[in-house]
Formats: sequence, C-alpha cells, structure tokens
Amino acid sequence: MPLIAILPGDGIGPEVTAEARRVLDALDLGLSFEEAPVGGAAYFSAGHPLPPATLDLAKRADAILFGAVGDPRCDALERHLRPEQAILGLRKELGLFANLRPAKLFPGLEDASALRPEVAGAIDMVIVRELNGDVYFGEKGMRTTASGRREGYDIMSYDEDEVARIAKVGFETARVRKGKLCSVDKANVLETSQLWRDVVIEISAQYPDIALTHMYVDNAAMQLVRNPGQFDVIVTGNLFGDILSDQASMCAGSIGMLPSASLDGSGKGLFEPIHGSAPDIAGQGKANPCATILSAAMLLRYSLGMDAAADRVESAVTAALTGGARTADLGGTLSTAAMGDAVVKALG
Ligand code: ATP
Ligand code: MG
Repeated sequence: MPLIAILPGDGIGPEVTAEARRVLDALDLGLSFEEAPVGGAAYFSAGHPLPPATLDLAKRADAILFGAVGDPRCDALERHLRPEQAILGLRKELGLFANLRPAKLFPGLEDASALRPEVAGAIDMVIVRELNGDVYFGEKGMRTTASGRREGYDIMSYDEDEVARIAKVGFETARVRKGKLCSVDKANVLETSQLWRDVVIEISAQYPDIALTHMYVDNAAMQLVRNPGQFDVIVTGNLFGDILSDQASMCAGSIGMLPSASLDGSGKGLFEPIHGSAPDIAGQGKANPCATILSAAMLLRYSLGMDAAADRVESAVTAALTGGARTADLGGTLSTAAMGDAVVKALG
C-alpha cells in the first residue's frame, strides 16, 4: 500500500491540502496517509521548520504532498529557523533535482492569462527545470579588482552526469505526453550550454520515439509568448528554468491553478502548488485548492504510475470549471471546501 506523506505547512497550506486529500480519498486507490507539521507550524510545535520526525516521514513515504510554508510571525527568526528552510532541506535531503511545472490554460480562464485569448488557449506544456546545479550552486563571491572596484562573480557549471539525469527526466516526461522535447540552452555563447546540448543529443539515442529540438533561451522566451502551443515539454537548466517557468505560469492564468513536482529520478517526489502560504487570505476559506488538487494528480502520475487516476482528477478539475465552479481568485464566490466539493462531484 503506497504511503503518502501529507505536509500541510502554513497559511492556506492546511486548507488546500485537505481538499486534495479528499479528492485522493474519493478515488479509493488504497493509499495510506500520514501527516506531519512543516514550516512555521513545525517551528511553533517542535522548534524547527523541518523536525526529524517530519524528515523521517518524508524519507519513508512513496511520495509527498506539500502545502506551503511561510509565516510572517517567523520573519525575525535566524535564517536556519525560517519556514522556507524546510523546503530547501527537503529538496537536498531527498535529492530532488528535477522540478516539473505544467502550464495549461483551463477552460473559461482565458481572461486570466497574460496572453491574447487566441494564443493562450493553446498552452499545454511542462517545463522540466534542473534544480541542484548551475550558477546558483557554483563558486560565488565578492572581490576587489586591481583598480579598486568591487566585483561580484558566480561560476556557472554543469557536469555531464547532472545534465544526463535531467535530460532523462525530460525525455520520460515527453514520453507520457505528446512525445516532443525542446531543450533550451544558450549554446552559442556558453560552454555549459554546449555541454548541455551535446549530452542531451547523446541521451536522445535512448529515446528514438521522442522528437527532440533545441532552442536558445532568448528565442524560447519570445516563442513562449508568440506561439506557446508549439511546446510540449521543455527541459532546461536551473537559471533559465527559473525564469521561463514563471513566465509560463503568467501565460496560464491564476497562481491558484498551477501545480508542480520535484523528483529524484527514481519516481519519488514532492508535489506542491506553485503558490505560497498566502497569509493575507489564510483561515478564511477563500483559497483556490485546484493547484494542490492538480499536484495530487501529478503525484499519482509521476510517483505511483497511476495515470488513469491522474487523468480522472485532471478531467474533474476541467469539468468543475466548465460547470462554472470558481473561487474568488477566478472571479467567483465558492469557498475552498465548495470548490473541493465541485471537483469531487465531477470525479463521477
Ligand atoms: P511565497 O514567498 O511563499 O511564494 P508569496 O508571498 O510570494 O509567497 P503567495 O503566498 O503565493 O505569495 O501569494 C501571492 C498572492 O496570491 C496573495 O495575494 C495570495 O492571496 C494569492 N494566492 C496565492 N495562492 C492562492 C490560492 N490558492 N488561491 C487564491 N489566491 C492565492
Ligand atoms: Mg512567491
């Protein structure tokens, strides 16, 4: 029986994970669940944002459903005690190196997209971003030049194993979608990108069924706005992926709709909405639970191999929206629980 760790966290985290849990329960898949505190909630109950018992549960579980962390009452704490450290710690401890962010426009949400409705409707893609390397983790520092000016530097580097493992996640992701992978780099000017491109091409020999293309990141940023329908899966490095995935999420509409997955390459993963703890609306039953419900669908698909169940959840969200179910962020009046009800009802 697969074990799902539920880490609700702070702010709206408990409200939205409760709805996702209800959807998973309604599917009757024989899953077992264990819950543990994380973030500010864990700091207040156990003195640390990622207590040993929570980390132990995360390690034992087959997959993790995560709400959100962040609590204004913790702003003055030392950095290592702040809620946000919990997610960084989980990524590191679990070796979660691949971040998947689908961007898809759901029916009736064309007005919420930053793009023209006729192009926005075509968005249905996943960005696979490398999470543990690149310029964020290279040597960095501040020094003084010979002429006395301050100079900051950050070394960008990737080794071939790091590129190969994220490339494989990209190809595997494309395989369960439309079979198209676009690798994004800046190989015309960066050595890291030249290696990136070479390794992606080498790995592609193992995936003859996937149509591979390459694009420079500047062009990709433009194409994402001009014609997003051309993309199925994008695989890219940490820096480029950081920027492109935020850009793609604005193309797709409300922050309350977008799920994400962070994977370790063996199928284990942490699944969470891309939004934060939203302290401004916490405890009021106003949060849109769809991003977390869709994260649960990704959990079924990527960690448990339950594609049919994942399809059912995604179809139910679509059906609920088509039927007019809307929380406040989507211009409606439904509460968090009522939106969850609408999705559960639409499961059929
Ligand atoms: P973090 O640093 O954790 O990402 P943040 O302050 O950047 O947090 P969020 O917590 O994501 O941002 O909130 C940004 C805005 O979006 C807030 O006004 C919040 O109320 C709104 N928001 C976030 N998630 C939801 C949701 N699920 N439903 C409705 N509104 C949301
Ligand atoms: Mg944020």
